[in-house]
Amino acid sequence: MSDDTPHPTDNAVFGPLMGGSPEATFGGALSFMRRRYSRDLDGVDAVVWGVPFDQAVSNRPGCRFGPSAIRRASAIFDGDPQYPFGFDPFETLAVVDYGDAGFDFTQPMRFEDAIAAQAQAIIAGGAQLFTLGGDHFVTYPLLRAHAARHGPLALVQFDAHQDTWPDHGGISHGGFVGRAVREGLIDPRRSIQVGIRTVAPEDCGIEIVPGHAMDTLGIGGVIARIRERVGETPAYMTFDIDCLDPAFAPGTGTPVAGGLSSRESLGILRGLGTVDFVGGDVMEVSPPYDHADVTAIAGATVALHYLGLLAERRRG
Ligand code: MN
Ligand code: MN
Repeated sequence: MSDDTPHPTDNAVFGPLMGGSPEATFGGALSFMRRRYSRDLDGVDAVVWGVPFDQAVSNRPGCRFGPSAIRRASAIFDGDPQYPFGFDPFETLAVVDYGDAGFDFTQPMRFEDAIAAQAQAIIAGGAQLFTLGGDHFVTYPLLRAHAARHGPLALVQFDAHQDTWPDHGGISHGGFVGRAVREGLIDPRRSIQVGIRTVAPEDCGIEIVPGHAMDTLGIGGVIARIRERVGETPAYMTFDIDCLDPAFAPGTGTPVAGGLSSRESLGILRGLGTVDFVGGDVMEVSPPYDHADVTAIAGATVALHYLGLLAERRRG
């Protein structure tokens, strides 16, 4: 770049589809990883989408602000590129920021159908969808959309909670997994939960790796358990940020001590390249309880790692 060429700004609006974005972290139009905002999915490999919904929480609200905080936090990677896989995933993958889901917040019981329909429309053309939440109930309509396309899914869930509690027909961020099992959206025999520290009345047949097992299993042991459990089944990755210890993710609604570190969870993700992921999300980032963007940065990094896995598979 010659000296009289303006430094690039506002890649989210004016930039190219591919490649990095050397913008100043502190300025410019925000999108996830400065990806261009677009709803034209022609030639797009992966879509990042926000679902700012938190009306199904059981304790502290606030994760409706998650998508915007994760987008803002992701800008830190502009001046300080992090390529955990050793290459820039955006040189390989065409990724757009689809903006946020539309729904009527006065009609929470209509939320799931609205989100399932929008998600189904996004993935209909073959692009991968990665969603920024939002409370963990958001994952339920996302599973509906992905199971409609791929059949029953292997769920790879990072969480302090099993989310298999009875929901009595209502909407709850602590009950969506049980519902997904009962409706055949996920195959419990192929599903696994990592980081669990609380106990629900039933496990629905899903394998559990408790938080305290990190010490004995190690990162490699957890990777092996996940790969063995999932096998060849199309898989969906959902990352409840409260899988992390509150030291690494204070900004969340239902924190539980004794969780994974950021490094442990990212190490596990990096080892899942052979898993056939067809969609994923990061949920429960609640900026009002966050400090210094600790939780939002963790959430953005999880999303970046997921896209890194897709890019790695594309490169072969
Ligand atoms: Mn949780
Ligand atoms: Mn959860």
